[in-house]
Amino acid sequence: MKITEVRLGRISVPLRVPFKTALRSVSSVEDVVVEIHTDTGAVGYGEAPPTGVITGDTTGAIVGAIRDHIAKTIVGRDVDDFESLIQAVNSCVVHNSSAKAAVDMALYDLYGQLYKLPVYKLLGGSRKQIVTDITISVNAPDEMARDTQNAIDRGYDCLKIKVGKDPARDIERLAAVRAVAGPDRCIRIDANQGWNAKQAVRILNQMQDKGLDIEFVEQPVPAWDIDGLKYVTDHSPVPVLADESVFGDKDALRILQMHAADYLNIKLMKCGGIYNALHIASLAETCGVECMIGCMLEAKISVNAAVHLACAKQIITKVDLDGPSLCSEDHILGGASFDEQLITVSDAPGMGITGILPGKIEYLK
Ligand SMILES: [Mg+2]
Repeated sequence: MKITEVRLGRISVPLRVPFKTALRSVSSVEDVVVEIHTDTGAVGYGEAPPTGVITGDTTGAIVGAIRDHIAKTIVGRDVDDFESLIQAVNSCVVHNSSAKAAVDMALYDLYGQLYKLPVYKLLGGSRKQIVTDITISVNAPDEMARDTQNAIDRGYDCLKIKVGKDPARDIERLAAVRAVAGPDRCIRIDANQGWNAKQAVRILNQMQDKGLDIEFVEQPVPAWDIDGLKYVTDHSPVPVLADESVFGDKDALRILQMHAADYLNIKLMKCGGIYNALHIASLAETCGVECMIGCMLEAKISVNAAVHLACAKQIITKVDLDGPSLCSEDHILGGASFDEQLITVSDAPGMGITGILPGKIEYLK
C-alpha cells in the first residue's frame, strides 16, 4: 500500500454553546482535515484543530508543516513500513505536534485497513465502550448551573468544570454547579493554568471545606511551573492532573520522576499522535499513574482516533472526549458512535472513518 497523495482541507462545525476557558472563548470548531491517499484506493483520515493558545499550532502552521515537510517525507512510501514511516514524520520537522497527530492517525487508519483490523485491536485492546465527561464553560454561576442541568438532562454523570478565570468567584461557580448536580455526580475541575501554586492550594482547601467534593483539579498552575505543580500535588487535598505541562513523553517522564502530579492527561494534539501517546501510557503504567485521555475542540475524526487509543490502554481510566458532544452538527461519516456520555468504538478496519459529508469540507490547494 503506497502513499500517493496527501490532501488537506478545512471543516467548520458550529458549537451548541460558546466554549469558554481561562484561556479563550470560541463558538465553532475550525479544523484541518488530512486525507492520505494510496495506490490501493484506501484513504486514511486525520484531523487537527488549531489550538494556538495551548499548542502554538495555528491553521497556517498545521497546513504548512504537513504540506512543506511531512507530505514530502511520506509520499511514495509504503504503509507497511509503518514504524520507520511514523519516525520519519516525527523527525522531519520539530514541534508541530498537531500536524504530526493528524498524519499519525491517518497512517494508523491505513495500517489497520491494510491488515483488516480496527486500530484499538491492532494496539491490543478489547474494551469497546468508554464513558466521557462533558465540559461546562466558565460563565456566571447561574448560567453554569443552567448548563449543568442541561448536561444532566442529556444523561451525563461526570462534569468537567472550567475554573481559574477569576479565582474569587470560582468557589461560587462550583457551589452553583454542585447544588444542581447533587452529591453523587462526579465533578472534576480544570483551571487551565489560571492560578499560582499557593493560591491553588488555598482555593482547593476552601472548596473541599465547603463540601464541593472535587474528584481532581486539572492544570492548576502555568504549564512551565513544574515545581508549582508538585507543590499543589504535595499540599492540596484534591488530586492533581497535569495537562498543559505534559506534551510529549519527556515531559511525562520528568513529572513522573518528580511525582509532580497524580494523573497525566494524554492528548493526541500535544504529543503528536498515537505512536507517541503509547510511550506516555507505557511510562505512566510503569509508574502506576493513571491517565486521562483528552481532546481539544475537535470534531469526530481526531476524537475517534483518541477513542481507539482509550479502548486499547487500561492505564487510561478517565475520559474527556466531549468534542463531538459540544458540536451542534456532525459532518463526519463512520467512526465511533457518540451517544452522549457513552462512546462505542467502531469495529471497521482502521479508524472506521468513511468520509465527510459532501460540501462540508473545503479542500486547500
Ligand atoms: Mg485541560
